[in-house]
Amino acid sequence: VYPGSADAAGQRATLGVLGGGQLGRMFVHAAQRLGYFTAVLDPDAQSPAGLVSHHHIQTDYHDPAGLAQLAELSQAITTEFENVPAQALQALALTRPVAPGAAVVGIAQNRIEEKAHFAACADLAGVSCAPYAVIETPAQLQAVQAERAELLPGILKTARLGYDGKGQVRVQNAAELAAAWAELGGVACVLEKMLPLMAECSVLVARGWDGQVVSFAPQRNVHVDGILAVTHAYEGNMPPALADRAREAAVSIAQHLGYVGVLCVEFFVVDDGSAQGGLVVNEMAPRPHNSGHYTLDACDASQFDLQVYTLAGLPLPEPRQHSPAIMLNLLGDVWLNAGGGQREPDWRSVLSLPGTHLHLYGKAQARPGRKMGHLTITGPDVARVKAVARRAAGLLG
Ligand code: ADP
Ligand code: MG
Repeated sequence: VYPGSADAAGQRATLGVLGGGQLGRMFVHAAQRLGYFTAVLDPDAQSPAGLVSHHHIQTDYHDPAGLAQLAELSQAITTEFENVPAQALQALALTRPVAPGAAVVGIAQNRIEEKAHFAACADLAGVSCAPYAVIETPAQLQAVQAERAELLPGILKTARLGYDGKGQVRVQNAAELAAAWAELGGVACVLEKMLPLMAECSVLVARGWDGQVVSFAPQRNVHVDGILAVTHAYEGNMPPALADRAREAAVSIAQHLGYVGVLCVEFFVVDDGSAQGGLVVNEMAPRPHNSGHYTLDACDASQFDLQVYTLAGLPLPEPRQHSPAIMLNLLGDVWLNAGGGQREPDWRSVLSLPGTHLHLYGKAQARPGRKMGHLTITGPDVARVKAVARRAAGLLG
């Protein structure tokens, strides 16, 4: 699909996206910059992506008429939301190129399949996932309680629909494990051993229809209460040997999946007694990722540009980072703490700091933990970026 082109009937080249959140919004921005028209399917009339798209189809992800309209309008379709129903992607794929495909999105939607996939990738540069057990039945729960004491203390995670630390319970012992499984409704879960984390990082990979692969250097991520708070993206953000292995493993995961699109793979750096620590693969997201937002301001092609390039079948540039960067997530708490509730933070002071790039997603209501925007800080060197990031964080509370 070439940008700016029109078909015989005069219909302009249009890229479609399932889901209207902030990731969809930034995809729409990237597509429009290249001259594409865009179509967003999201039930919410005020969705961040729907607000800025040429077409906004306001229906449920299951609605056959809405999906047909999306396919009608779009030459190729992607998703910004990993919990989009696999049937929706399958239905669209009958008539249009869809990337990533239903099968790989299905794997990423389910921690049990995801971990099995990681285990099946033979050449992950020596990286494995955390020790874990599947708990889908009371018998499995009892077997884990009786035979897998090494997994405790651990984290019980629902196999499906978890994000930002939701659908997870930390458990110390066998009794807490049983209570936690009941609390999660007895749904399919994995119990993961609690690992001593030294750091967390993630790698963005983009792979085209023709198998061309490019990747970004790993970014180091700091989570607070299970939600990403800060991303550090600059040379020296982690030991180079670990960074190389994480990147290799992520590329290998994308290749094994026959993945098309942008994939984010999250890793733990675990204290294994060595100075650098060991690498453990955590999970993957079949889409651009919050930890890659710095690429908008610090790289000559962003993760959203690459999502457009992969979807449209354009050649992929090897992304080059031209500036060190730190990204601060702006959660609803920043607004709520600004005083009086729903007041605006002090943008005048934040924006007067050098190298600040403010991104707001157009969400009207601030709520605790809600991702309202992010602030990326770039600069001539890491020391100055860190200094500005500290001042910005201070202003934002
Ligand atoms: P989500 O889908 O919510 O991002 P994750 O599995 O990435 O779920 O877990 C969220 C956060 O919880 C991680 O980024 C990490 O900080 C912490 N965490 C998850 N699993 C483990 C583990 N096995 N050991 C230690 N910390 C963990
Ligand atoms: Mg995660």
